[in-house]
Amino acid sequence: MIDPLSLLLDVQNLSVSFRRYQRGLAQTNLNVISDLSLTARAGEILAVAGASGSGKSLLAHAILGLLPANAMLSGVMRYDGQPLNAVRQKQLCGSEIALIPQSVTYLDPLMRVGDQARGAEKSAERMERQREVFRRLELPLPSERLYPFQLSGGMARRVLFSTAIISDARLIIADEPTPGMHLSQAMEALSILRELADAGKAVILITHDVDLALNVADQIAVFYAGTTLEETPAADFAAGPDALRHPYSRALWRALPQNGFEPIPGFQPYPEALPDGCLFGPRCELKTAACEQETPPMRTVRGGKVRCVHAA
Ligand code: SF4
Repeated sequence: MIDPLSLLLDVQNLSVSFRRYQRGLAQTNLNVISDLSLTARAGEILAVAGASGSGKSLLAHAILGLLPANAMLSGVMRYDGQPLNAVRQKQLCGSEIALIPQSVTYLDPLMRVGDQARGAEKSAERMERQREVFRRLELPLPSERLYPFQLSGGMARRVLFSTAIISDARLIIADEPTPGMHLSQAMEALSILRELADAGKAVILITHDVDLALNVADQIAVFYAGTTLEETPAADFAAGPDALRHPYSRALWRALPQNGFEPIPGFQPYPEALPDGCLFGPRCELKTAACEQETPPMRTVRGGKVRCVHAA
């Protein structure tokens, strides 16, 4: 049961497609996200986990209004109880909602990184907070006076991370924040996200690394081919396959190193070639004729949500 007071971001039935021109003026629409729903609550970390190409980063860009002009959206997004439309996205992005992007090109090449991390606020407290975060992420003090081109890739990623978490944002969307960091730095970065959530912020942690997410997440949304197949308390993922509801989530669990490193046969379908019915059908050992009739709707099962006709 969702506490309505803590619900900060509510995405319902989001679909995203890109209009493409083929030969001449012929147009086609490429569906990259279909009927996707999720919620982010103050005080919690929602990990969005899935393979590359499952639509995780596109979701972040859709929330922030950063999709290219040929993108078409349907569905409902609400932030703090109000519709999250283009006007509000412009108002909130960078202030109420902060993104930790994947690409270090988001850093301003002409600004010292300490100034970027502190943002517009010049108070002594903000300076102190920036230095504390830099120290925790093993960015030496003199690095605050450097420009982005003077940093290694790993340092630049840690500066990007610092910039979002030092801000006053209430919702932080971290898009694969840890690649390029040493394990100790990655664990420190995750523990900072945990502290922020414990202080009342909402965090969406986008990652392909379920194992890493399990260290800090409260909820896990399992993405596949542009939609959510399961939303589960992280505790169920840690408990093992019997606690999970979807065959793909169970396969992800078995693919973890400590659980046998069992590969998942087959591959995720491309947006141009989605199967009829269940998107996981071609890889699912439990498939029946019923699975091909329509895309299974999301339904509530054992305290989580699942998109599988046979989940019980
Ligand atoms: S709906 Fe059918 S094919 Fe899809 S995951 Fe469930 S059992 Fe497998």
